[in-house]
Order: sequence, then C-alpha cells, then structure tokens
Amino acid sequence: MNPAYIPFNKPYLSGNELRYIEEAVRSGKISGDGIFTKRCHNFFEQELGFKKVLLTTSCTDALEMAALLIDIQPGDEVIVPAYTFVSTANAFVLRGATIVFADSSALSPNLDPDQLEALITPRTKAIVPVHYAGVACNMDPIMALARRHNLFVVEDAAQAIDSYYKGRKLGSIGHLAAFSFHETKNIISGEGGMLAVNDLQFAERAEILWEKGTNRSSFFRGEVDKYSWVDYGSSFLPSDMIAAFLWAQLENIGDIQQRRKHIWHRYYEALSPLQAMGVQLPVIPDYATNNGHMFHLVCRSLAERTALIERLKAENVHPVFHYLSLHASPFYAAKHDGRVLPHADHYSDCLVRLPFYYELTDANQEFINQLILDFYQG
Ligand SMILES: *Cc1c(COP(=O)(O)O)cnc(C)c1O
Repeated sequence: MNPAYIPFNKPYLSGNELRYIEEAVRSGKISGDGIFTKRCHNFFEQELGFKKVLLTTSCTDALEMAALLIDIQPGDEVIVPAYTFVSTANAFVLRGATIVFADSSALSPNLDPDQLEALITPRTKAIVPVHYAGVACNMDPIMALARRHNLFVVEDAAQAIDSYYKGRKLGSIGHLAAFSFHETKNIISGEGGMLAVNDLQFAERAEILWEKGTNRSSFFRGEVDKYSWVDYGSSFLPSDMIAAFLWAQLENIGDIQQRRKHIWHRYYEALSPLQAMGVQLPVIPDYATNNGHMFHLVCRSLAERTALIERLKAENVHPVFHYLSLHASPFYAAKHDGRVLPHADHYSDCLVRLPFYYELTDANQEFINQLILDFYQG
C-alpha cells in the first residue's frame, strides 16, 4: 500500500534559500545585478568556466535575447526540434522567423543531426538543438554543419545543467545557450534562467540588451562616464531576491546532483527488464552524460501509456507525459510545411516521465517501480 501522494515534481529547498533572500532584502538593494547576481555569475564563470553569463528571469527570456543577438529578421528560417517546449520556437517566432521543424531520432527525443542538412535553405539563420532530459545532442556534426553553412547554433540547455558532451559542458558549445531554473529543473529559483555567451562577439551587446538598451553595466564598471540609451533592449534581468534563492541552490549543486543521479540509476536498474518487451528506457550515447534531470519510459502505444498513467494515478503516483509536437500545435500546424515527423509524434504519444525530485525516497521509488513492473508483467 502506498502511504502517500507522490507528485511528479516537488521543488527542493537545499538549506539557505530563505536566509539569503532575507540577506538580500536587508542589504537595501533588491533590484537586478546585485550581490547575489554577481555571486551566481562568478560561480558560472570562475568555477564552471563559462566565458560570459547573464542571469535572466527565465530560459524563455534567454532564448529571446539569443534571437535578438543573432538579429533574427522576418522571413529568416530557424531549425528547431518539433518535440520541445514552445519557448524554443516562440523566441524566434516573436522576431518574425519561420520555424522549420526537425524530427527526433529513433533512439531519443533529441533532434537527428543526419536529417538537418536537408532542411537548410539560403534563408536558414540558426539551429536550436535541445538537450532533452539533459542528454547531449550530437554536437560535432551540428557545429560542423553550422560552420559550413554559416549558421548560428543556440543551445536550448534548459534541462542540461551539469551535463557534458565529449567532456565539454552543455551550454558552452553553441554560439549562445539558454538555461532554465524553473522549479521543475535540477537547480531552481521558481522562475529563472541564464544566457551563456560563448561567442564573445555578442558579450557587450548582451549586457546592453539585458539592461533595457543602456550601457549601464559599462557605467558601473567605470568604462563610460554616464549611461545612455544605446541600442534596443528589454528588462531581462531578475531581482536579486531570485538570485539569492539560486545562490543557495548553487552552493549545494554537488549534493543535489548526486541525489538526482542516484534516483535515476535506481529507476534504470529496476525497470531495465522492460526493454526486452519493447519499452524504451533513456539512452545515454557514449559522447553524453546523464545529469539526473528526468527519467522517462517510451511505451509501445498511446493506449498503453494512458493505461499505465491511470494505473499509477489510482495508487496516488503522478507520472506525466510531455510535449505535444509543435508542428501539430494549434498555433503552428497551418504554418508547418507539412512534412511528417514520425519520431516526434511517437514521443508525443508514448513518452511518460516518472516522479523525480530530490526528496523522493528509496521506499517511494520501490513502490513506483513495483507498480510499473506489475503493470507490464503482472
Ligand atoms: C523548461 C524549458 C524551457 C523554458 O524554461 P523557462 O525557464 O520556464 O522559460 C525551454 N526549453 C526547454 C527544453 C525546457 O525544458
């Protein structure tokens, strides 16, 4: 018998979140770019080795900044996986781009690099790979293709903190990258995100966009003697209270990641026997790492997935499916070029994500695993 309700996600407070928020409030400055924002920036730049980062109020905002920085114009084409969150596409649609959807691969929801070249036209401006579940896309062929066709690569690294491709941090490979600290991600601040600027030609302009089109950041560094409106921009920077929360999480990133990977491996071991029946478990290619973001199964049919979810919900366990492919969405279906994207459709119908959060106990997990095994083998 299950003793308790097991949600899909539960935001984890790692210790000092409330203390740091109080500290930020008492410091007398809680607008953006304050002491906690600088601590977070330093952590990513000095300790993790990112060249240049800017906290944002969401990953969506970071993607919008990327679209502005690479100067997307009406009619430009941007290649985006069909199986992703709306913001991956919306950030570019806001600037007038036409989205060309790429299918996932058979092995994982990540876009299939082998199918990309056929999607490139003289209007193509950028490719936006999404590292689904924090598992790297095969970046070498994507970067090579981009170089050959003079395209920008913007990594949607929303789920990809502390994950690697051939030893390189995800989010450090494309020209620009966007991270999320939404409460469903590994490291959280409620809402929150970050732009990583890997091609430093964008660094100065990124700061200007971030500060409403002003050179305020240069002013505070003493590089100019007054600050003025120098470019377009918006207010992309979060309050320092958000950064204070985030800083408490970053202090504990090692512990958080260890626990999440433990949970991932327990699911993997217990559920591996299902592979023999044709239920797909996550695949981590040898060029990639697992960052314990998510654990998903790919059921054999939509009916099977629906029945599995129902069975678990009846026991107070709450798994959830994921994206409805964007090429088939009410907003974009009529604008899509009509190509059939069978793998994306398959994940839309058959992928299910299991409860996954720091405080999920081993006993909770045994209960979930047994329910799933009984569903398939009982
Ligand atoms: C969560 C997520 C986003 C959006 O992140 P926000 O911080 O909520 O804007 C974008 N893309 C992917 C792949 C995501 O998982």
